[in-house]
Amino acid sequence: MVADVIIETPDTTTLVLFTGNDRLEYLAGHFLTIDPHQFESLERFTSFLEDLKGRREPPRAYSMSSAPHERYLAVTVKEERYVSGVTRFPPLLSPLLVKRTLRGMRIVVTGFTGPYTLAPDVTTQTDHIVHICAGSGSVPNFSMLKSALAHHPTLRHTFVYSNKKWNDVIFRDELGRLASQHPDRLKILHTITREDSTGSFGPGVRKGRVDQALLREAIPSPTECLVYVCGPGISKFDVAAAKEAGTQPQPRFLESVLADLKALGVPNDRIKREFYG
Ligand SMILES: Cc1cc2nc3c(=O)[nH]c(=O)nc-3n(C[C@H](O)[C@H](O)[C@H](O)COP(=O)(O)OP(=O)(O)OC[C@H]3O[C@@H](n4cnc5c(N)ncnc54)[C@H](O)[C@@H]3O)c2cc1C
Repeated sequence: MVADVIIETPDTTTLVLFTGNDRLEYLAGHFLTIDPHQFESLERFTSFLEDLKGRREPPRAYSMSSAPHERYLAVTVKEERYVSGVTRFPPLLSPLLVKRTLRGMRIVVTGFTGPYTLAPDVTTQTDHIVHICAGSGSVPNFSMLKSALAHHPTLRHTFVYSNKKWNDVIFRDELGRLASQHPDRLKILHTITREDSTGSFGPGVRKGRVDQALLREAIPSPTECLVYVCGPGISKFDVAAAKEAGTQPQPRFLESVLADLKALGVPNDRIKREFYG
């Protein structure tokens, strides 16, 4: 049952879910899935899209923004937009979850799973976790950050977070609060791509994309840290569209960060990645 609906930013909402279970067996970084077929209000739209696409609409994955030690389960969803002439089909599920889900509604969720988690023996591998996220890619990292701050006192974190605008930054206040509670263990580096006056947003807020210079600052010892990267990458739809046009798909956030990490000398087996298509 949806116990609470928290509006995080103009296009992002956290749904706090009450499951009736006292103990929830999930790891920070896990996701659950939501099948769009369960929503009567989407029925005609789902069937129409299935006719157009020639395949059944699959369940959508949503990472938990809550951490396992917290009382409630929560997911945080960013609304996908339809951009005329750019987006091939209107997005199906996220607009409903973000804009039309009310307290008291019931949702069937399936879970919990996913390989993008902190290993139980993480502290034998490193004392520094570097989170590199864009947009809703911060969701699983936020969960891992909260969990590690609570349970792994020897771990330090650097949280590099890219957004288009300052008002798009999900968990902005909570991240700030965690940084003031753990000044020696958490450093946050925001970077804003589509606003000029980032200086007025406070220290640690840069202008531009995540690039090698920013990553060099975040990663003083490339062979000793563990890096968790989450955000948009080249989707199978991008690959198909590029093939049709006879071009190569343009690297997106994930591909460009992975190339920069390689150039900085971070070993591949020290990089965990989660791809949001
Ligand atoms: C492991 C994982 C975890 C995730 N966690 C989160 C999270 O915590 N928060 C969050 O907000 N999101 C998360 N996502 C993304 C989420 O699962 C959805 O992809 C997102 O919400 C969009 O779903 P939608 O139904 O609104 O859009 P969709 O209907 O899936 O459409 C999305 C885009 O794909 C295009 N598209 C769809 N079908 C086709 C087709 N056949 N051909 C060409 N283009 C097509 C559409 O045009 C549109 O641009 C996660 C994804 C993964 C894989």
